[in-house]
Amino acid sequence: MSETYDIVTIGSGHNGLVAAAYLAAAGKKTLVLERNAWFGGGVVTRELTVPGFRHDQHSMAHIFIQANPLLAADELGLKARHGLKYLFPELPMMSVFEDGTTLGLYRDRERTCAEIAKFSAKDAEAYRRLADKAASYLPMVTASLYTAPAPLGATYALLDQSREGRELWRTMQMSSHDHLCEVFEHDRVRMHFARVAGENLVSPDEKATGFGVYVFVGFLEAYGIGVPVGGSGTLTDALIASIREHGGEVLANSDVRRVQTRNGRAVGVETTDGRTYAARDAVIGALHPHDLGRMVEGLDPEVVRAANATQISEIGCITVHAALNAPLKFRAGGHVRAVMIELLPNRYDTIRKSFDKLRYGEFSDYPLVGVGSLTLFDSTRTPEGKATMHAWDYVPFERADGKSWDETKHEYVERMLTHMSKFIENLGPGDIIAYHSDSPVDMERTSSSFRRGDLHGIAATTYQYGAHRPTPDLGQNVVPDCERLYLVGPFQHPGGGVFGAGRAAAIRVCEDLGIDFGKAGIGQ
Ligand SMILES: Cc1cc2nc3c(=O)[nH]c(=O)nc-3n(C[C@H](O)[C@H](O)[C@H](O)COP(=O)(O)OP(=O)(O)OC[C@H]3O[C@@H](n4cnc5c(N)ncnc54)[C@H](O)[C@@H]3O)c2cc1C
Repeated sequence: MSETYDIVTIGSGHNGLVAAAYLAAAGKKTLVLERNAWFGGGVVTRELTVPGFRHDQHSMAHIFIQANPLLAADELGLKARHGLKYLFPELPMMSVFEDGTTLGLYRDRERTCAEIAKFSAKDAEAYRRLADKAASYLPMVTASLYTAPAPLGATYALLDQSREGRELWRTMQMSSHDHLCEVFEHDRVRMHFARVAGENLVSPDEKATGFGVYVFVGFLEAYGIGVPVGGSGTLTDALIASIREHGGEVLANSDVRRVQTRNGRAVGVETTDGRTYAARDAVIGALHPHDLGRMVEGLDPEVVRAANATQISEIGCITVHAALNAPLKFRAGGHVRAVMIELLPNRYDTIRKSFDKLRYGEFSDYPLVGVGSLTLFDSTRTPEGKATMHAWDYVPFERADGKSWDETKHEYVERMLTHMSKFIENLGPGDIIAYHSDSPVDMERTSSSFRRGDLHGIAATTYQYGAHRPTPDLGQNVVPDCERLYLVGPFQHPGGGVFGAGRAAAIRVCEDLGIDFGKAGIGQ
């Protein structure tokens, strides 16, 4: 016998939880099923090393969700009633170069200009213009992020109607590198912003990445980077509390094998251990496009073929989470106190070549290491006086040397730590109490979204963007020929990151069920 719910959600990633939480608030009997023993997917804080040290296993910086009405208007009361609290450090990002010079990207524009002027006064002026433009684009950007995407053809047609639109379109098609070379003259300034673009798992030389800098700078100035007090997973905790507040259930250790369909409509799910749950109104699924055809029977073979053909980034991620005896000491000085700290070489070409190597499945000669140590801002995560470190680097999933990640992960971590010691004084064995590392293979094991270590599920390219993400068929969170099945995940619009994009799926479900999203008890 199946248990019956109105809404069954596959996966407790924040996007599935957001969708489920809105529908629970709208009065629907809601169930969330999670394969792992813990909840949250990429938004999780766990004691990965030793008791008392809480690490953000995946996401740590909540940037793009800040403009989402979910938080901006606190539509579900996550802040008011469920304990979600953010800090917004004044210095969201800093580049530290090997020679000890630094370049900080502050929320305050004039402070950023002063930082850039250390390298080039002309570039400081150029940044003012770039930041002005970024601020003017921001309303357009935020309007597009938390609802279903507009059709791409119509969007391009609109852009083509004005000089500003055509200029914007041109920037969108350029590589970050080409664009940054037009805007800035100094090698270090170019490198700083190219590395920002690289955080999206793309080389600065990748075409159609040029607009990213406007999105990042616009958000950074307007909202800053949110550091959740207690860790990234407090967002997950608040969403689960909201679902339960409205009578919903969230179950761990529940691996969904199949979406059940009847007469072209999703009607429930079946778990690998044989449980079945019926869904009267809808199934919402964190279903990677490569899994769709296997998990949902009866789909149009063309829909499945296109989903299977979605491309995954060649750039995988490896992370190191360390429990530390003391806060990190940067050789560049005590002023290195940013949320994201990029450890960079002295020459920009070096990182471009590092990204190039990854295309061939090779390791980059110069590691592309970023570091976060959020205990600098939030002391609730460790015992007093101690610290945590989250370091990441980019590596191939499939290695040209043919070795397995499981056998050699720790060798690579040693390489990272040795490299990082050029920048950080206290990373020796006496400083690190314990560490945990996730290779790209581990990453995929923690969530099927992080396929081949791609944090964004599928590559962030123009042909897998907006309404065409992951494919033109699936770009509106729905599945052709399978009514009442809705998709959420980093492989959907607007892409990887903590966006709270499950809101768009909830809006779509409400439309189909005839519920007025704005008047559904949401925010009560
Ligand atoms: C190392 C790393 C660092 C990152 N850093 C940042 C950052 O600082 N800032 C930022 O904005 N973003 C960051 N990201 C990206 C961000 O974490 C993800 O884009 C985001 O969490 C995706 O959320 P989601 O809910 O769509 O999917 P996921 O978080 O992947 O959740 C999907 C969930 O569904 C479950 N699931 C899937 N299939 C099934 C099934 N069949 N049955 C049951 N359960 C299932 C999975 O186990 C998982 O829990 C990072 C990602 C990684 C990996």
